[in-house]
Amino acid sequence: MKNTIHLTTHSGKMDGIRSISTNPLTNQFCNRMHDCGNDRVICTHCYATRLVDFRLSLQKHVENNSVALSERVIPMNELPSYNDELIRFDSFGELINETHLINFFNLCYKNPQTYHVLYTKRCNLVEDMAHLKPSNLKVVESNPIVDSVYEKPKSPIADIVFNVVTPEYLEQNPRYKATCIKACNTCRLCYSRRTPMKFIVELLK
Ligand code: SF4
Repeated sequence: MKNTIHLTTHSGKMDGIRSISTNPLTNQFCNRMHDCGNDRVICTHCYATRLVDFRLSLQKHVENNSVALSERVIPMNELPSYNDELIRFDSFGELINETHLINFFNLCYKNPQTYHVLYTKRCNLVEDMAHLKPSNLKVVESNPIVDSVYEKPKSPIADIVFNVVTPEYLEQNPRYKATCIKACNTCRLCYSRRTPMKFIVELLK
């Protein structure tokens, strides 16, 4: 059976950068984090979960991707080709399992002209396959704890770490400032091949 991988076109902050995303609503890791009852865990504030819950056509596409990407290693000739300069992996959703990651790696190998960026709280999965990590894949470690800035990634596989803070935290810690303030395609701090800084700070939405 041929898998159809859906590429999501975004507006707003991600305008101009397409993603290959999965469904946070059926992801066990997302559900566990989302329902943990601790509002210092960023997943309890998850915007993607609310959006995917509300937009049923998007939900159908990302659920299809969840199934397609996590159930089997897709043969290279069935993976999509694209010419995008940048592709974001899991703008919605999170790594489901190792099969999902292998399919992301293979998408990178199949599309060497495209630079791919994966944000994840599951760097341990990537570490297990570090030797296979493509050179056109950047890993952004998502710090799961609000108001606890990491100045460099905890995982050796991650290129940078993304932190979320409250305005009160910035007031109490003036050495930090919000650096995630633009549209991604304009900013590109997370998307550049060179990494001008090891950590990003965003205000909690
Ligand atoms: S720091 Fe820039 S590239 Fe990274 S998420 Fe924020 S706006 Fe996008």
